[in-house]
Amino acid sequence: MNAEETLNHVADQVKTCEKCALHFSRKNSVPGEGPANSEIMFIGEGPGFYENEEGRPFVGQAGKFLDELLGVAGLKRSEVFICNVVKCRPPGNRDPLPEELQACGGYLDEQIQAINPQVVVTLGRFSMAKFLPNFKISEIHGQASMINGRMIVPMFHPAAALHQPSLKPQVIEDFKLLPKFLEQMKKQQIKKVEPAETQSEDAPATPDEGSAEQLSLF
Ligand code: URA
Ligand code: SF4
Repeated sequence: MNAEETLNHVADQVKTCEKCALHFSRKNSVPGEGPANSEIMFIGEGPGFYENEEGRPFVGQAGKFLDELLGVAGLKRSEVFICNVVKCRPPGNRDPLPEELQACGGYLDEQIQAINPQVVVTLGRFSMAKFLPNFKISEIHGQASMINGRMIVPMFHPAAALHQPSLKPQVIEDFKLLPKFLEQMKKQQIKKVEPAETQSEDAPATPDEGSAEQLSLF
């Protein structure tokens, strides 16, 4: 399967999935959307009221703010992939439970593997925790880390900034960094390709599984 076929396959599975209790209360599951060749991927928490109605990610108030933030980063919604750590709405927008995150995680893993983005932006604590457990979002928001050869950038959740307006300028500043992060990854990609032809097999181009290296690029 190519990347697009994999994404379609995941979306089909998610539509009828009953792997966790969230399927009982959902109206529409929300697999996520965007091009299969996106260079950057945004991962939120879970569908809210409007997302559950429409089956699409970030279409409510938080989504409007996310659109604004994408604009700040010089990105269009149509050129990025947007999804969530859980694909069905937690009732009353409660936090996803560990067993729900666990049950749904395989779908997200397949999406990440298929898209293979240069940069993953996590929105909020739950998607950050998938890559950077044991960190506090208030301490590492807007900072890039390399994890398994991919750049991870944790951001505050747009809804958090709507609830707590004092966060808003910070979130905007953090999103302004994204073009530089993406450019940095593209440069590294070029460097990686060139010497790779003469490199010996035992020189890995990506860090070992599980290693999280904090970057201070800028
Ligand atoms: N909040 C999220 O985390 N995801 C959505 O899709 C919408 C709101
Ligand atoms: Fe399946 Fe994920 Fe929905 Fe749970 S949240 S029912 S695991 S798609």
